[in-house]
Amino acid sequence: MQSLNRPGKKRLVACPQCKTMIEYNPDNPFRPFCSERCRLMDLGQWASESYTIAVPVQPDDLLDDSSEC
Ligand SMILES: [Zn+2]
Repeated sequence: MQSLNRPGKKRLVACPQCKTMIEYNPDNPFRPFCSERCRLMDLGQWASESYTIAVPVQPDDLLDDSSEC
């Protein structure tokens, strides 16, 4: 019987961005990502998390619109 799964031959890793199984190739400049697109998307996510989005607080005074004369 021949073993199809030879150790140290090919190593599959999941792209951190799209979870696509790719061959871990030292020639791949985008590793561990599958492509440049996923690499940039991951960098974009990291950048978007760095700045905080201010949530506008609505005070109860704005709801009080009843004017009594
Ligand atoms: Zn990917």
